Amino acid sequence: MDNKTREIVEKHKFKFSKSLGQNFLIDDTVLDDIIVGSGINEDDFVIEIGPGVGTLTRVMLPRAKKVTAIELDSDLIPILIEELNEFPNFQLIHNDALKVDFNEIIGDEESVKLVANLPYYVTTPIIVRLLTKGYNFKSLTIMIQKEVAERIDSEPNCKEYGSLSVLVQYHCNTKIVRKVSPTSFLPRPKVDSIVIRLDKLDKPRVEVEDEKLFFKVVRASFNMRRKTLWNALKPLGLSKEDLESAFIESGIDQKRRGETLSLEEFATLANSVYKFSIK
Ligand code: SAM
Repeated sequence: MDNKTREIVEKHKFKFSKSLGQNFLIDDTVLDDIIVGSGINEDDFVIEIGPGVGTLTRVMLPRAKKVTAIELDSDLIPILIEELNEFPNFQLIHNDALKVDFNEIIGDEESVKLVANLPYYVTTPIIVRLLTKGYNFKSLTIMIQKEVAERIDSEPNCKEYGSLSVLVQYHCNTKIVRKVSPTSFLPRPKVDSIVIRLDKLDKPRVEVEDEKLFFKVVRASFNMRRKTLWNALKPLGLSKEDLESAFIESGIDQKRRGETLSLEEFATLANSVYKFSIK
């Protein structure tokens, strides 16, 4: 079960930071499943977010063309440099993954795969950022809190289904790789985790006239989950007549609730709202 994590932590007398979400992997079976689940190979440029003491990095390096890791904690930088200096294909960026420009890191690399065991507090902002900025990568394999993975992977009419599900499924195919229990980490987190792989689609799953408006409609629909779509979409600012016409044209019953709509139905509704808001 145990790998080099504990040894490196003790050797460098590393002190874990709770606020940076530092729970390091100590379970080799999870490392293996992330490697297999992410599908990385020697043609891939891997970007790892939050390498910790380099536990996952060390197993990815011999299997990938290059691994660039982005780590925020300055205490981990010398440790990573020392522990991974035997790998010429390793590059380290000391920065906040919420601030770096991934376009600069990706450059003209063609087969880019992201891998991360994410601190729970940055999970959603990082996923949103990676998907909405149009970065050129193939997949994102991430370990995240079980509840967030369930939201991402959920379907209409489930209580987990929300804006995050729609955003991710608009851009990606999703696949749960495995569950991970708290005993696989040092120190143990309080929650269960899931490794999920998001494969970016060549083009979004549904065609929309105006992407910004599409997500506005989605967010408004989930903002007031218990309300009818009619009430939820009133704040979009269309006149009563135009909103009514949009519903009629879309064929979607205004008495339904947002959580019942599939991605295709959201697209149909947003495209009708678009038509009546620009006329
Ligand atoms: N990948 C390692 C592993 O699996 O053992 C460590 C995972 S630990 C859950 C999360 C890592 O992300 C920590 O090393 C933490 O310092 C780093 N981190 C936290 N916030 C970050 C941010 N905004 N940008 C980059 N790294 C961050």
